[in-house]
Amino acid sequence: MLDTQDRSTLVKVSELTHYLLCPRLVYFNAQGKQQPAHVQKNDRSAIEHALFKELGFSWQKLCLGDQENVPKSRDRKPDEAIAQTLAEITDDLELIYKNELGSVSEDLLERVKTDFVTLISTSEWLGRLQSNDELALLERSFGFERERSVISQRLGLVGSMDKLIRTGDEHIPCIIKTGRCPAYSVWKRDRMQLAAYALLLEDAYETTVQRGFVEYIRAPEVRTAVIKRGDRALALQTVKRVKRVKNGLFPDKGEHAPCEHCAFAAQCETRRTLLSRLLMR
Ligand code: SF4
Repeated sequence: MLDTQDRSTLVKVSELTHYLLCPRLVYFNAQGKQQPAHVQKNDRSAIEHALFKELGFSWQKLCLGDQENVPKSRDRKPDEAIAQTLAEITDDLELIYKNELGSVSEDLLERVKTDFVTLISTSEWLGRLQSNDELALLERSFGFERERSVISQRLGLVGSMDKLIRTGDEHIPCIIKTGRCPAYSVWKRDRMQLAAYALLLEDAYETTVQRGFVEYIRAPEVRTAVIKRGDRALALQTVKRVKRVKNGLFPDKGEHAPCEHCAFAAQCETRRTLLSRLLMR
C-alpha cells in the first residue's frame, strides 16, 4: 500500500485530461491554487452534473428495469421502475455529493431535481436510452465496480474510472461524461483517458485491454472506444508533460482553453503580464 507522500508524486489521470484542456490548469493546481471545491449557492450546472453522473451509474436499471425488484414488482409497469430509479437518484444526491453540493440552496436543488425528472421521463429521452443496451446487458451479466482506483508505480500514474466491468475474459473501463456528445465516435480527450485506464489495468492485472465505453449521458448515447496505439502513446506522452509542469514549468495555454469560465483567469493574466515584462527587459 502506498502512503500519502508516495501518492502525491504520481500523476493522476484527471491531470492528463486537464492538460489536454489547458496545460496551465495543471500548473495552477500543482501550485496549490485549487479550484473551489464547493459550488455557489445558485450553481445549477453543478447540481445537473451530479444528477447526470448518478444517472450514468443507473444505466442498466433504466435500460432494462430493476432486476433486484423483479419478484415483488413483476406486474409493475416499466415507467414505475424508471420512476423508482429516478427517486433513488434524487433522494440520495446530497448524501453522495456532500462536498460538492453542501452550499447549494434547498430551493434550487428541488427545482433542478424536478426539471431533471421531467426531462428523463420523456418518451423521446427514454427511447434513445433503450436503443443503447450493449453496456446495460454487460452490466447485468457481470456487474461493475464503481469508481475503481488503480495505481501503477511503474507508470507513475493513478486513476479512478467511473466503472470497471470484468467479464472473465476482459477488463472494460467505462467513463460517464455529462458534457456534449460528439456527432460520431469519441472525443480525443476521452479516448486518451480510456487508454490511460487501460495502461493501469494492464499493469495491475497482466491483461490486454481492448476497448472501453463512454456514456455521454445527456444525449443519452454509449460509444465504444477501441484502445488504439495512438491513444496509448498520447497518454504516456502526456504523463511526461504533466510531470514537467508539476515540477514548475509554466506551459503555454491550450489551443481551446476555456478561459471564459476558468477559476484561474486572474492568476493566469498576472503571470502572463509578469512574463511579458521580464521578456521585454
Ligand atoms: S485562464 Fe485560460 S489559459 Fe489560464 S489556466 Fe484558465 S483556461 Fe488555461
